[in-house]
Order: sequence, then structure tokens, then C-alpha cells
Amino acid sequence: MKWIILGIRIFVMMIFLHGGMVWGWIEENVSIKPYVSYIDKDRPWMGIWVGCYDIWTGEYGDCIYELALVEKEPYSGGHEHNGNRPIGTLRLHEENGEGNTYLSGNTENEVVLVEYLIPEVSGEIKLDSYIPPPRGYTCINPSDCLFITNITVEIAGLIKVPPSGQGTYRLTGSYGDAGVTSKHVENHYAKSSSFVMISSAAYDYFEETGIAIGINDMSLELGGLFDIHNNWKTPHSWHRFGTSVDIDHLGVKEKLLNRIAKRFGCTRYEVSLIHYECPSN
Ligand SMILES: [Zn+2]
Repeated sequence: MKWIILGIRIFVMMIFLHGGMVWGWIEENVSIKPYVSYIDKDRPWMGIWVGCYDIWTGEYGDCIYELALVEKEPYSGGHEHNGNRPIGTLRLHEENGEGNTYLSGNTENEVVLVEYLIPEVSGEIKLDSYIPPPRGYTCINPSDCLFITNITVEIAGLIKVPPSGQGTYRLTGSYGDAGVTSKHVENHYAKSSSFVMISSAAYDYFEETGIAIGINDMSLELGGLFDIHNNWKTPHSWHRFGTSVDIDHLGVKEKLLNRIAKRFGCTRYEVSLIHYECPSN
């Protein structure tokens, strides 16, 4: 599985009207998939074009630009811990290095391509693009020359897994449950098709054994890196797309459960953990 985000996703453009006015537009809301370091060979990025021009002559001008990434919503993406959440970085196109959350420069009479390096952690981010007008020009839209773009890093469309109506499974491993240190209260988001697979398997397993399996970590509400140690890092490298399911070990007849899960399209991974991918990628 491989994907790369390239090209024009945000366009920051100022149009200068000689002798007084400036006008510009930008994409206000953007949804992008999180970076997956163990799958993506090339670091995915989103292009941000920055430029300005004189509306009378059509010529690009030399404008100062300041781009700043900030956390829009703390604790977003299902993380009940905060501080230093990775929100991605900015760097000039074809520049090396990890970039920074702030980038400034001059457009030097052309359109500058900036790369937004997408983080592994999902969440709500804000990009402030400030392009003050040169002497003799003013901004009219917005009048303060500050463009705001809301960026949601997410696996879109995951559903919140409901408790079992018939008691054929239990939802476990949420922050607040006894012994759970992972600060993620909502740890049961999934693709709807994955939910159907695992809940069907749970139902059949219950029919055969009378035991309700404990469904532990699945994915966070916006997908992305699920950092069970609350530090924005793996070891949970899976659990990003809404297809992963961990099952509690206690009292589970693994071979039987594997067989039933397979029937519904789930594949067992790991030896020490009962981890299924429903379906396997
Ligand atoms: Zn977290």
C-alpha cells in the first residue's frame, strides 16, 4: 500500500491592485491522510503555493511571507494527553531536512512552493499564512492579510464501535478502565466493514463457547498513529486505518477464534498478541 500527496492543495495568492488594494484567496479546509512511516517510502507532503502579483501589470511581486503551523484543537484525534503533538513541518520544495513549524521568506517575484510534511499523528491543525503587502498596497480580503487554513489529518469515515447489544463481546482497554495506561478513551473506532467482520466473528465464537471476547484497541477516531505509551511514538505501529483489532487473551481459545475470524475475512498476526487485520491489507 502506497500513497503520496503531491501538488496544489492550498493556494495562497495575493493579487495587488496598483495604488491601493490587494485581494487573495485560499482553500479553507483540507483533509489529508496521516503519514505512515513504516509503509511510505517517500515522505508525503502537501504543496502550498505562495505568491503575489500586481493586478494591473500581472507581474509577480516581491512579498514577505510568514507561514506558521499551530495546534488547532488540543487533545484532538482521541488523544487524552497533550504537549508537543506532532503537527507536521514546513520546508521549501526540494529542500532537505525536517523543516520547522514556522517558515518565512520572500517570494522574489515568483510563486514559491512550500512543502507541508504531514505528521503520523492525526488531529486538527491550523496553518496561518501571513503576507503583508509591500508599501503602497493593502489587503482587502482578508483585510489583515492573514489567511487561515484548517488542516485535518485523518483517516476519514471511521465509525465508533457500539457496545454489543447481545453481549457477545466486551469493549476493553479504554483509558479509565482498570490497569489501562494508554490515555485514549475512545479506542474503538473502525471501518464499518471491519466492525462487521469482527462482531460477526465474536457472535459465532460466543455461540460456540458462551464466552464474550474482550475487544481491545482498534483505532482512534481519526485513525493515525495510536501511541499507547502516550508519547507520539510506536510500538503500536498498526491500528492506524480502522482495520486492526486486538483481542484480550484471557480465557480465549485462540485456534478456534482464529478459525472463526478467518471465516469473516480477518487475518491473525503476532504470536504473543491476538491481533487481527480485518481485512488484511
Ligand atoms: Zn495518543
